[in-house]
Amino acid sequence: MRPPVLGPDPYGALMRTPAANLLTRAGLPKPPRLRRHEPGQDLLTGPALVIGLDGATWTGDLGTWLRAAGATVLDEHPGGTGEERLGAVLVDASGLRRVEELGQLRERLAPAFRRTRGRVLLLGADPARLTDPEARAVQQGLEGLLRSLAKEARGGTTVNLVRIAPGARTALRSAVEFLCSARSAFVHGQPVLVGAGEPAPARERPVAVVTGAARGIGAAIVDVLARTGHHVVCVDVPAAGDGLAAVANRVHGSTLHLDVTADTAPQVLATHLADRFDGADVVVHNAGITRDRSFVNLDEAAWNSVLDVNLRAPLRLTTGLLDHPGALAPAARFVYLSSINGLAGAKGQTNYATSKAGLVGLVQALAEPLAARGLAANAVAPGFIETPMTAAMPPVPRELGRRIASLQQGGLPVDVAEAVGWLAQPDAAGIDGQVLRVCGQNLLGA
Ligand code: NAD
Repeated sequence: MRPPVLGPDPYGALMRTPAANLLTRAGLPKPPRLRRHEPGQDLLTGPALVIGLDGATWTGDLGTWLRAAGATVLDEHPGGTGEERLGAVLVDASGLRRVEELGQLRERLAPAFRRTRGRVLLLGADPARLTDPEARAVQQGLEGLLRSLAKEARGGTTVNLVRIAPGARTALRSAVEFLCSARSAFVHGQPVLVGAGEPAPARERPVAVVTGAARGIGAAIVDVLARTGHHVVCVDVPAAGDGLAAVANRVHGSTLHLDVTADTAPQVLATHLADRFDGADVVVHNAGITRDRSFVNLDEAAWNSVLDVNLRAPLRLTTGLLDHPGALAPAARFVYLSSINGLAGAKGQTNYATSKAGLVGLVQALAEPLAARGLAANAVAPGFIETPMTAAMPPVPRELGRRIASLQQGGLPVDVAEAVGWLAQPDAAGIDGQVLRVCGQNLLGA
């Protein structure tokens, strides 16, 4: 008899067998099955309820956008026995300014939250733009609600908060569509700030470049960007040539064998993009390595190699592309792969966390100057993702890494790739300088 195929997460697979009933009765967690993107699927699994609290201005638009995406929209709680599930509940709380108004969240959202299996989306104002202390406190309060609701959500339901800056109409629609869809299955408990920005006219065949594309998350990013119509230039070290060719071939992309740390790498990449492709529309800095050791045992080579690949190379490549005429399309987007370990710190990863937190500083520094040129830079910070990198971890931290997320499982490379794909979309133009965690609300860095 052939042994059952358990995949990278044997416990998660076991909890989808009949044995799960017994084990959950013994108090063991049962990771929910996440609904992921499939071609032609409905946006939601049930109707969407749109709730407008005091001062709400977006409810009409939300209804229009959701209907245009094929959803059934309710503007009143359906009542009844509670058997029927809502596919989503969206709450416009962006007009709340007074502490007593916060009670509306409990009154209006709680009955709907109980019946939602899918997506909960809170809409708020950007607290940083509010000068009135009470108004800012109220809007900041939404973050506590968000993070706590996310911990109470069940069955793979995700809860996220979109903070709306002035002029953010296009980016807000794009965020609503992404965060309501199955593409955001592993984005949970996160605030996202959307700002002003109009999409540049799309090129007939936009070009994306992805570093570290031969396997893992990079390969999944290639697939998603190809799905969204990009020609993808797949970059990896020459030693990963076979894997790289396989990834590029399956999406009719092209390959570039390049060690991103090489002295000539910025020049080689910039010339390649300018001469062969008329510039890149999307640049994804995904190549990354770990050399884990306690700080006191970390030798110079382990420190330098991680900082070189993960931070110095993206920095040099970015400068090289920005300085080289024709290397970038007029509205190019940069996306950098950070990590929740860079936000929260991780034992044995001082080098890695330094490099990944450094990338956050990089996107924050780039945001304004790039916006002035019509470009944008954002980071995606994955949590525990099932890849060869995490498969190499010792068993106990690996199992813990999966289970300490509110979604009680590791994400898949495609989950990170979908977030990158969203930030690369032309209508995400108003999203700049952000760090989006794709971690299933991992307690680390949450
Ligand atoms: P991976 O090890 O599976 O793949 C990394 C790829 O980068 C490999 O194909 C490798 O050949 C390539 N690469 C390494 N050095 C390179 C260099 N000098 N030049 C060109 N290519 C190079 O890693 P992954 O798990 O898919 O991670 C991808 C990114 O996501 C990394 O930046 C990683 O730090 C980040 N990340 C991963 C996780 C996770 O759980 N897997 C979590 C957080 C962040």
